[in-house]
Amino acid sequence: MKDALNPFKIAQQQLDDAAQRLGLDPAMHELLRWPMQELKVILPVKMDDGLTKVFHAFRIAYNTARGPAKGGIRWHPDETVDTVRALAAWMTWKTSVVDIPLGGGKGGIICNPKELSETEKERLARAYIRAIARTLGVTKDVPAPDVYTTPQIMAWMMDEYETIVGEKHPGVITGKPLPLGGSQGRGDATARGGIYVAREAAKVQGIELQGNTMAVQGFGNAGQYAACLGEEILGLKLVAASDSKGGVYNPEGMAAKDLVDYKLNNGVLKGYPDADEISNEDLLELEVTVLFPSALENVITENNAAKLRCKILCELANGPTTPAADDILYDNGVIVLPDFLANAGGVTVSYFEQVQNTYNYYWELKEVHKRLDEKMTNAFSDVYQMHLKEKINMRRAAYLVSVARVAEACRLRGWA
Ligand code: NAD
Repeated sequence: MKDALNPFKIAQQQLDDAAQRLGLDPAMHELLRWPMQELKVILPVKMDDGLTKVFHAFRIAYNTARGPAKGGIRWHPDETVDTVRALAAWMTWKTSVVDIPLGGGKGGIICNPKELSETEKERLARAYIRAIARTLGVTKDVPAPDVYTTPQIMAWMMDEYETIVGEKHPGVITGKPLPLGGSQGRGDATARGGIYVAREAAKVQGIELQGNTMAVQGFGNAGQYAACLGEEILGLKLVAASDSKGGVYNPEGMAAKDLVDYKLNNGVLKGYPDADEISNEDLLELEVTVLFPSALENVITENNAAKLRCKILCELANGPTTPAADDILYDNGVIVLPDFLANAGGVTVSYFEQVQNTYNYYWELKEVHKRLDEKMTNAFSDVYQMHLKEKINMRRAAYLVSVARVAEACRLRGWA
């Protein structure tokens, strides 16, 4: 992977910029540049045909000064240790920017889940937990779902962990199904948090959302809910959406729920009636009020940033924009709502899930929505005030807010 597109190099570059602006001393800066704990494991798993396949996997705790590590588990064929490091770093800044008492972590298995049967997925999930159980725990490190992992996978993982330790620990993993201690509102929390932040950004910038347009790149958990909630809460019209096989476009708008149903029934968006095909690249360049990148890293680079015509770029995906692209977007007046702010709704409701598991008492859906709105609105306000005060883009502002909080926790612990 080229250094310019290596997510961990990008994460370090973003941190370096914040460290310099905050005037962090060299030891603190160095401490925050690296994951504090990395575990690499090999998982031999029996496939349905009786043969064993060997998988490579990781679990990384980036920084735990503010609390136990928290972060999802991604199953992807292109997973690398540097992707997991970067995502773990971003989780650290994310839990800090929404001011919840957790650190940052991430896990990944290099695999192609589309080629695995349900029974193979279960054996892989359980093998992963057996290999990393010693580093997990409600007071140590709490995983959650990410790309291509689901509540069912979280359920198998929790069951394996509880079998190993011989006790019930529902809070060891979040994003669980409701009957196993999941939280109301976790399913759409990432998108909902992004919608609340986009609403706040439009408010302070005087941008009208009602009746205007949105495009969604990546039509999975985050993207599908963004389309539905963008329509329901913000009154936006969905004009384009895409998945890994391509996209669909209709300038008159498409009913988000219909498109979700089509995707669920057909596995792909391609072929949706009453819409033209559009490539992932062209979708990003559409003139829309809000663009939601909701797939993977590095889709907005210096090669296409100048062509983006959205007013608000609400990054539900992690790391969709490279630093060079960021500068171009800032110069062009695009309001970028940076990933670790815009998609922090997921981890915030994961945290609520842990709190409810600890109390063994569960909240109503409206309670979850109210508390999530408060957290996201406050986080947006902290970042926006920093952006105005320091006259810097929103990503840099978000870094200053969150890195300062993590550095303070490290300092109080006497780490640097
Ligand atoms: P998902 O697996 O549910 O969906 C991913 C979607 O992206 C799928 O529709 C897939 O077809 C599409 N996709 C894959 N490659 C693509 C490509 N090259 N071009 C266009 N689309 C492509 O995953 P998700 O949970 O929705 O996560 C999406 C992004 O949001 C990731 O960056 C993830 O880290 C981030 N995120 C998710 C959560 C969450 O709670 N789900 C929380 C925070 C951040």
